[in-house]
Amino acid sequence: MIIMNLLKNWLIIVGALIMLISLSPIQKLKQQLPEGALRGKWDMLRMLILFFVASYLVFVVAQWNEYVDTSDLIVPFVFFFGAIFTLLTSSLAVQTARDILRITTLEQENITDPLMEIHNRRHFNRRLTEEMNRAHRYGTPLALFIIDIDHFKNVNDTYGHDTGDNVLKKIATLLQDHVRRTDIIARYGGEEIAIIAPETTMEVAEVLGERLRESIANAILVPANEEHPDIKATVSIGIAGIEKTITNNERFIQCADIALYEAKEQGRNRVVIYECTQSETM
Ligand code: GH3
Ligand code: MG
Ligand code: MG
Repeated sequence: MIIMNLLKNWLIIVGALIMLISLSPIQKLKQQLPEGALRGKWDMLRMLILFFVASYLVFVVAQWNEYVDTSDLIVPFVFFFGAIFTLLTSSLAVQTARDILRITTLEQENITDPLMEIHNRRHFNRRLTEEMNRAHRYGTPLALFIIDIDHFKNVNDTYGHDTGDNVLKKIATLLQDHVRRTDIIARYGGEEIAIIAPETTMEVAEVLGERLRESIANAILVPANEEHPDIKATVSIGIAGIEKTITNNERFIQCADIALYEAKEQGRNRVVIYECTQSETM
């Protein structure tokens, strides 16, 4: 009987300790979560665990010297395995949260250009298909911008490739600051940036294009230092607007390219729009 009693007390005390240990992963998990409702729920779970620990201890004190037979061990066993269940659940929750964080970071890296810190071409292609399908299905307007820096080769040749990189990064940041949250901005090629603007008519796209062009032309992209003066640059912007008949990505990109070519031909530092139709050969 003494052994039975010892076993009962051991199960409950060790169960209470395991319950206490499971508070540690919950604390770690909470630290990884942003302030908000989810954190509050984990706090609630923590309170419940403390309540269980207190209940275990009250139970063990109340029944310390009670006569025990085999069936009286059922509750202590349930307590004990309940504590193991809680520890496993909280540890797994921490591991799962870490894995999700790692996967999210990898996914983000997979679609981001490391220099310009905007989306890359892969993401651009995927989103263009999605937005073209949506525009086609609902008959909504869609605009595509291709932005190319004017005489950028001169910047590299005059100030060096590293300064050229800083110019690229600054231009990407400025453009990103001026587009809407629903627009998709991506590095399209070497020093070319594309913007997909859903639900945007040609009139609105032209105004936005002009705003983007001005913001670059007026900015000091790299401030002067002992090696070079303030560096400024301009961009040419080609904009294509979608028509219901177009379902083909390449044709849409070709239209924006035609507009960009026209902007370069007209003297650069300007915006040209092109109403895109399916007709021309692809
Ligand atoms: P245009 O006005 O006709 O566009 O003249 P451009 O000199 O800008 O001509 P183009 O667009 O053909 O030049 C592209 C230049 O961009 C050439 C290339 O060295 C430079 N470039 C492309 N990618 C990078 C990059 O990642 N970093 C730097 N620093 N330069 C790049
Ligand atoms: Mg170019
Ligand atoms: Mg260029």
